[in-house]
Amino acid sequence: MGNSATEPVTQRHAPDCVFCRIIAGEIPSERVHEDEKVIAFKDLSPQARVHVLVVPRAHLRDVTELAQEPALLAHTAKTAQKVAAELGDGDFRLIFNTGAGAGQTVFHVHAHVLAGGKLAEGEL
Ligand code: 5GP
Ligand code: ZN
Repeated sequence: MGNSATEPVTQRHAPDCVFCRIIAGEIPSERVHEDEKVIAFKDLSPQARVHVLVVPRAHLRDVTELAQEPALLAHTAKTAQKVAAELGDGDFRLIFNTGAGAGQTVFHVHAHVLAGGKLAEGEL
């Protein structure tokens, strides 16, 4: 499977992508939510008491591509809210690093959910 022009964007998959491999179950992760559109799992190197990544199943590059699928973007935000309510006190910070210069290292769109107590201002 590739990213051919005929393939619906919501079914994109990239075999060499670490998050596609986590979604496929080829790399283990500590999942806290999954449904037909997104999965959420704990970040490998947490920056807050709660640090979860909400990841659309579709292999989209970043939040600008995700914004072309507004329902999926909304579902990603709602899933972040659910995770923050279940694992924290309901308040949360939602971060999409977009582009290498902004710190994006995995080019499969993911929302960082930071929660669980007072969060420091700063970089991620
Ligand atoms: P980015 O820097 O692209 O915004 O965020 C990528 C995040 O993915 C980083 O916070 C990094 O710790 C996390 N990450 C990278 N590889 C893995 C992995 O294999 N498992 C998990 N759980 N997190 C990962
Ligand atoms: Zn991917």
